[in-house]
Amino acid sequence: MADLAPYAIGPRNTRGRARREKPPVGRSEFQRDRDRIIHSTAFRRLEYKTQVFVNHEGDLFRTRLTHSLEVAQIARSIARNLRLNEDLVEAISLAHDLGHTPFGHAGQEALHDCMRSHGGFEHNLQSLRVVDVLEQRYAAFDGLNLCFETREGILKHCALKNARMLGDVGERFVKRQRPSLEAQLANLADEIAYNNHDVDDGLRSGLLTIEQLARVGIFARHMQEVRREHPKIDARRLVHETVRRMIGSLVTDLTRQSAQNIKNGRLRTLDDRAAPALIAFSAPVRREQQELKRFLRVNLYQHHQVARMTNKARRVVRDLFKAFIDEPQLMPPQYHAQAATDTARTVADYIAGMTDRYAIREYRRLFAVDQL
Ligand code: MG
Repeated sequence: MADLAPYAIGPRNTRGRARREKPPVGRSEFQRDRDRIIHSTAFRRLEYKTQVFVNHEGDLFRTRLTHSLEVAQIARSIARNLRLNEDLVEAISLAHDLGHTPFGHAGQEALHDCMRSHGGFEHNLQSLRVVDVLEQRYAAFDGLNLCFETREGILKHCALKNARMLGDVGERFVKRQRPSLEAQLANLADEIAYNNHDVDDGLRSGLLTIEQLARVGIFARHMQEVRREHPKIDARRLVHETVRRMIGSLVTDLTRQSAQNIKNGRLRTLDDRAAPALIAFSAPVRREQQELKRFLRVNLYQHHQVARMTNKARRVVRDLFKAFIDEPQLMPPQYHAQAATDTARTVADYIAGMTDRYAIREYRRLFAVDQL
């Protein structure tokens, strides 16, 4: 960490924590943030939350926990090469999905629907709410009291009306400014991670085939290269070799293009927050990424088997919400006090915190007459 670039977030230019604390001993402020995130309850729950496949569908698919670790790994490699703050990108990466509901996007959409007349539900905002309010383990404060830059990085997107209520951390949405380069990087590392692991999981599940993917530019290019070098390779290794080369090429492109953007933008300090996004892919790679995303949307995320599961997931979330909002006493006692002042938000917090399997169990407990 000795050799940070002048435009990196460092110990001298952090805006610090909302509650002042003694400086950490033997670790940096952002290492302390990372450690608090890893020790949080919400972080442990990521193990049983999913993005595309529901947790019980198989042990080899990514969960939000392994996804977050992959994001952190990719983001740290790039941060090191760009001389950005590796500890900060790690903290942001590990925390970026803490606010996700059970059942991936289906759960999030269903909960947002339920919350429509109560201020809505956004998973980025919920991730911030987890680290600012919902984790209750420290004697002196609610939440984890993370540094401003970690919180700002977690809040990747945010509706303007919510941003206005957030104070300092929402400021950049109101002023239309960019977050730190570390936050921009964590965001793109997220994209690299999920595009590639969804290809891998899609193939493993049998929902996608190699023949289909051979029509997608970036996959085809790397697969041909692997086949040329290893003509006798078996299918399993072929997929892994191809995916790892895809990740490698994206990391290299992002590093090279971002270094170039930083140089062209003559970015010397952090104050230049109105600058266009500097952490970015080159134009041809961005186009290839869009092609891959489109392919995944049509062939994986909208696959009829996935659709059947997400339909069920939506129903679980909707029915749980209705039951709890009609009768808040059905929630565990620790939610009752908060429910008395804001029932809908309390129900949303409770549901968003559930893992896939907990939500399914809770659904059975509430609706199956032969269960307790
Ligand atoms: Mg993510």
